[in-house]
Amino acid sequence: MRRRRKRIIITSISCISILLLLTILLLHFLYFSFSFTTEDGTRISNNSDIEVTYGQKELPIIKAVYKDFRDNKNGTEANVTKEGEANLQKIGEYPITYKASYNGKEKSITLNIKVVDKTPPEINLKGGNEINWILGKEFKDPGYTAIDDVDGDVTGNVAVSGTVDANKEGDYTLTYTVKDSAGNENTVTRIVHVIVKKEVDPGNKVVYLTFDDGPGPYTEKLLNILDKYNVKVTFFVTNGFPNYQNMIAEEARRGHTVAVHSYTHKYEQIYTSVDAFFDDFNKMNDVIKKQTGHTSNILRFPGGGSNTISKKYCQGIMTALTNEVTKRGILYADWNVSSGDAGETTSTQQVASNVISGIQKNNVSTVLQHDIKDFSVNAVEQIIQWGQSNGYTFLPLTETSPMHHHAVNN
Ligand SMILES: [Zn+2]
Repeated sequence: MRRRRKRIIITSISCISILLLLTILLLHFLYFSFSFTTEDGTRISNNSDIEVTYGQKELPIIKAVYKDFRDNKNGTEANVTKEGEANLQKIGEYPITYKASYNGKEKSITLNIKVVDKTPPEINLKGGNEINWILGKEFKDPGYTAIDDVDGDVTGNVAVSGTVDANKEGDYTLTYTVKDSAGNENTVTRIVHVIVKKEVDPGNKVVYLTFDDGPGPYTEKLLNILDKYNVKVTFFVTNGFPNYQNMIAEEARRGHTVAVHSYTHKYEQIYTSVDAFFDDFNKMNDVIKKQTGHTSNILRFPGGGSNTISKKYCQGIMTALTNEVTKRGILYADWNVSSGDAGETTSTQQVASNVISGIQKNNVSTVLQHDIKDFSVNAVEQIIQWGQSNGYTFLPLTETSPMHHHAVNN
């Protein structure tokens, strides 16, 4: 009885051992695995989502490691081939099958390649991230554009927050935010320094040639003369010759300063009240904006700041206006050299000699001429030749130029 039991136990142990050995042997020959990873080693399996940024040139590299009991335990890199294509220039989902093979064994997985937009739109601030704004000048954002790699122009979606108090010196921050349709957001800021007008010393022997009352029939001729000598000037424009409005665009295009003179140039209208003056001023600026794309902040009063004719229409109007324009951040320029072309002379030679003798009396000259007078335009070449050969620099007026102001007489 005891011996029999012993035999059974021995037989059982043998059977189990043999079975175990066989199993191990079988596993040894049959068991193998492929593990798939992305290039950075992240494990992926069948049906995994793989995000690819829109616009990327290549699909991510998929690797596979083969392992079994006979090969080393660290595994061997398998060969991976793919079936299917993804359009990386188009948002969407693309199934791609990756097949790993090693030593006659293989395994396939299908990955869901998701081409997604991860790039926020770019915001471009016209005028830059930091701008100066002249105290009192009504604040107007210089503008911006926003372009998204997928959505295209999204300028209309830009939200601007923050305010600028143009009547108080200081630094103000404006924030521009835009989102694309995928929800990627971009934010940029602009610092606006509201400052008192800063004059920059233009240097010695500087001449600001200025031309009032145009554009008109002789403006193009003048522009060609100025181009010949590469001289930039300032045009104080009117609507006196509506058929020549396009010359305003041409003046700006050729690098000259376009500034406001008057829409009507009618003293009896513009000098009746502050409101009447600014109605006319704004009307002219509308024309300037239409022609050049932006308004001007520089003004010449018809008749100059010193005119007395305005007394006929409103006592004290020039005192009120010179104060008011300054409050509004508008810069006005009178002159310290007169060509005499407004009445005293009709001779080209006399205009040239008036200007040349005037220039010699000043270190910085602002010259008054009218480009609606043929004889005055004809004097410009001689003036420039004389100036350039005598060491003078001709400049256009800008917001930082020194501006001559006459004494106010009304
Ligand atoms: Zn005028």
